[in-house]
Amino acid sequence: MRRASLLLACALAAVLAGCDREVVTTVHPPRPDVQENTVAQPQAPEPAPPQAAVPPEAPPAVSTAPLPAVRDAGDAQGALLLAQRPLVVPVAGIAPSRLADNFEQSRGSRKHEAIDILAPAGTPVVALDDGRITKLFTSKPGGLTIYQYDPDGKLAYYYAHLQRYAEGLREGQEVHRGDVIGYVGSTGNADPGTPHLHFAVFRLGDPPKWWEGEAVNPYPALSRAKAAEQVAAR
Ligand SMILES: [Zn+2]
Repeated sequence: MRRASLLLACALAAVLAGCDREVVTTVHPPRPDVQENTVAQPQAPEPAPPQAAVPPEAPPAVSTAPLPAVRDAGDAQGALLLAQRPLVVPVAGIAPSRLADNFEQSRGSRKHEAIDILAPAGTPVVALDDGRITKLFTSKPGGLTIYQYDPDGKLAYYYAHLQRYAEGLREGQEVHRGDVIGYVGSTGNADPGTPHLHFAVFRLGDPPKWWEGEAVNPYPALSRAKAAEQVAAR
């Protein structure tokens, strides 16, 4: 009975003025925080100069670019492309969980912008993705290197410090994910005592140039890749 009459009263009130809304709109009038702020300023007669000198008001001006942060972690667009590729870890017998993210480490005056995958010399290096061998190149820092494009020609994969190439490997050759393309070594500027694959990914421009691109951190995608099966070294 009571409930019904309450409901009825409320319904009536709602029709007249709007039960719930009325309460909400009447809450606001007093504003204590505004008063606190305005009181603080006039109450500082003498010690005002030192207080004003401490905060130089610089921080608000720094509200500019979120882009550099993305760039530092590697090219975001390239990372997205890489994440969509089905990949294997480019060194045979290495589990994804053994990889380390050393993309942002500094090497001399530069950032590494690659990851190093440690393995005994002679361990097979495999294509992590389908694609084409674009360039076989020897450089002072990289030693014996391979540049491979992904099937769409949007990403370049760079394998460095190789001991040697797989027999018969040539520029222009189509490769499939898991194909042996070379062997882990320490050519170039790698420490002979720490043979490893230096592996980098670049997002290519248009038209693609094998020596030019935006560095992509391969670690996030590779940490979710499959391990390449152990292949017998030839
Ligand atoms: Zn490296």
